[in-house]
This record gives sequence, C-alpha cells and structure tokens, in this order.
Amino acid sequence: MSSIATNIIQLKSTLPQGVSLVAVSKFHPVSALQEAYDAGQRIFGESRAQELVAKQKVLPADIEWHFIGPLQSNKVKDIVPFISMIESIDSLKLLQEVNKQAAKHDRIVRVLLEIHIAQEEAKHGFSFDECRALLRDWTPDTFPHVRICGLMGMATNTDDTTQIEKEFHALHAFFEELKTSFQQTDEQFQELSMGMSHDYPIAIREGSTMIRVGTHIFGEREY
Ligand SMILES: *Cc1c(COP(=O)(O)O)cnc(C)c1O
Repeated sequence: MSSIATNIIQLKSTLPQGVSLVAVSKFHPVSALQEAYDAGQRIFGESRAQELVAKQKVLPADIEWHFIGPLQSNKVKDIVPFISMIESIDSLKLLQEVNKQAAKHDRIVRVLLEIHIAQEEAKHGFSFDECRALLRDWTPDTFPHVRICGLMGMATNTDDTTQIEKEFHALHAFFEELKTSFQQTDEQFQELSMGMSHDYPIAIREGSTMIRVGTHIFGEREY
C-alpha cells in the first residue's frame, strides 16, 4: 500500500464519529489525489481556483471538492459549476458573487464563513462582530443560491498548544452562539471546520466537525 493510502486509513481510524476529513491536496499532483481516492477518500480541499479546475477535469466525478483558500471574485465563476463547499468566505462581496454565479447554474452552493481567530494579521476572515452583523439581517431569501453551513477558522501557527486551544475554544463557543441565534438555517448550520496537520487533535477536542489535513497525508508541499 502507498504511504498516502496508509496515512489516510490510519488517520480515519482515529477520527471520532461526526468528524469528517478534508484531504488538502493543494500543490500535489493528480497521481497523489488518485492514491487517496483509491484508499476511499472522497473529500478534497484545494486553495487555488486554476489548480482545482484542472484537477477536477481529470479526477473521478464523485469527488467532493472544497475550496479552502483566499478566493478572488473573478474566479468564483470557474469553480461554482462543480464545487461542493466553499469554506473560505471572508466578505459580503464574495458571498454576493457566489450567489450570482450559482443562480446561473441553478445551484445552491454550500459555504462556510471564515472567522479570523489567529494572532497573525495575515490570516483572512470575519471578526466575531462582523459575522454577527452579517447574520443579523440574514434570511434564506437574502442569497437564495447560497447556504451557510457553518464556520471555518485557522489557529495561530505556533507550538504553544495553550494558545491554539484558546483560539479553537473561542471559535467553538461562537459557533454555538450562532447556532441558537441564527435561527432559519438551524439544521444546516452544523459544520465547524478547524484543525490542520499540526493541530487537528486539539481541534477535535475543542469541537471540530471537519478537519483539513494536507501535510500529514501527502507529505511536504513543493512550492
Ligand atoms: C494548506 C491548508 C490546510 C492544510 O495544511 P497542512 O498543515 O498541510 O495540514 C488547511 N487549511 C487551509 C485553509 C490551508 O490553506
């Protein structure tokens, strides 16, 4: 068995029920994704539209593609026809564009709102207050071709596990707050995407429902 297959099978065997695995395959060749697919993996995460479109064309049609990186508005139309979930919505403008493009394809695109929880300035995402403001006036008719399914966040890139724990804990608490206040989509608002190769065990302890793991499965990326 390839090491990719072994990694996937091992990782999956440690995941509690209710936690799904997004295999983050950015910068890895199609052959690596095919190995993961052959080991049973169906959800893949990519962070560049062009790369995603190229891979989608040649890989099996039953793959669920998640977009997880910064997304430019002008790239939305390229991925909307087939995307399963956009995890990295970080502005109202982007949400509007997804709605517009999804309407053209008569689709409802599932999205997560990315929340800024890390200390680094560079990370994208809404603050808690910006997110509250966005959802306060939200009804299912606001953007009928978008379904907000939950939140996504990235912790600070640090070895300080207490810091990571604190950030994931805060995001989980915010997620629970929204679940009660954000009424209309109660039953669909259920995904909390947090945890990467170096911090997913912490994320799971703190209530993650979806981890996004790349390096731990595919090895180091070559940029
Ligand atoms: C690259 C990336 C990951 C995966 O990171 P690894 O450390 O390789 O597991 C997860 N989430 C996002 C948003 C990413 O860009």
